[in-house]
Amino acid sequence: MSLTFRDAGERVDAYISQFKEGYFPPLLMLARLTEEVGEVARVVSHFSGKTPKPGEDEGDLEAELADLLFVMICMANERGLSLERGFDRVMTKFETRDKDRWTRKDADE
Ligand SMILES: [Mg+2]
Repeated sequence: MSLTFRDAGERVDAYISQFKEGYFPPLLMLARLTEEVGEVARVVSHFSGKTPKPGEDEGDLEAELADLLFVMICMANERGLSLERGFDRVMTKFETRDKDRWTRKDADE
């Protein structure tokens, strides 16, 4: 499967646009984003040594990250923002400002 940020944004918008309620207001989406970050944290804590509570499974990091991405896409769509452009901007920042920040694998050669 090949999927662009634009494709993902359009798919989410097609889904949300079916419903009269539309996108949640920004503060509610922020609350949802925070909930999903907590769910990601729970899965990470399970594979980092915390024993799940009785009856609780270890969780699914891929699914939880996708939940988080869904909310992020909703927030971008609701504001008319482009995650494609935003992602390009952040990568350009890392690739320029931070290009010498870390130890390169070929540093010893
Ligand atoms: Mg979740």
